[in-house]
Amino acid sequence: MGAIADALRQVRARIPEHVSLVAVSKYHPVDAVDAAYRAGQRIFGESRVQELAVKAEALPRDIRWHFIGHLQTNKVRRLLQLRPALIESVDSARLLDAIDAESCRQGIVTRVLLQLHVAREETKFGMTPDEALAFFANRSFEALKATHICGLMAMASNTDDAARVRADFDTAAATFRTIKDTTPDLRGFDILSMGMSHDFPQAIEAGANMVRVGSAIFGEKE
Ligand SMILES: *Cc1c(COP(=O)(O)O)cnc(C)c1O
Repeated sequence: MGAIADALRQVRARIPEHVSLVAVSKYHPVDAVDAAYRAGQRIFGESRVQELAVKAEALPRDIRWHFIGHLQTNKVRRLLQLRPALIESVDSARLLDAIDAESCRQGIVTRVLLQLHVAREETKFGMTPDEALAFFANRSFEALKATHICGLMAMASNTDDAARVRADFDTAAATFRTIKDTTPDLRGFDILSMGMSHDFPQAIEAGANMVRVGSAIFGEKE
């Protein structure tokens, strides 16, 4: 597992101090997560509730788990029981409401990011920039009782066209800044999570302060 520690060091060397690294461990075994943990990594990303449950049970308690996959409302209760540090992939107002209601029921406050849909074709999940802007302009967040919206998550188009990738990141960053500027009383809306193994340097250039890196650390999925 020395390879994972080495790869982690190489990724970290390319990430400035102010940017958080989420090590995306989905589809990789507990041993792989443990190798990254022993190399100092504490934030891990998972995209399936059941897989997160298994790993959270097996691994140290001070890991901060981020949920990054599409979340069905019927899995919200189980996910919140696992107390994820951040749900990055809240892709609809309906899901947000379900998370808020269940957080109330469990007596917890859940931290989330709203997922923006900026890539043209590939991902079908997420709010459009206009929907996200309207959500804040209408002050819909004020209805939340037990959910804290901490920022935005986005994925760029999966393409070799660097200009297109940059345009997607710029769209997400502009949406993030507009929300902050037009809703100055919004507290703790500070995270812009974007960039994966193949495009995190461009995402950081565009303003990301959280990146989600999987295969560059753990290798290709098994
Ligand atoms: C899998 C995944 C990543 C990491 O992708 P890599 O290309 O392996 O770095 C990041 N974000 C989300 C939402 C993912 O599903």
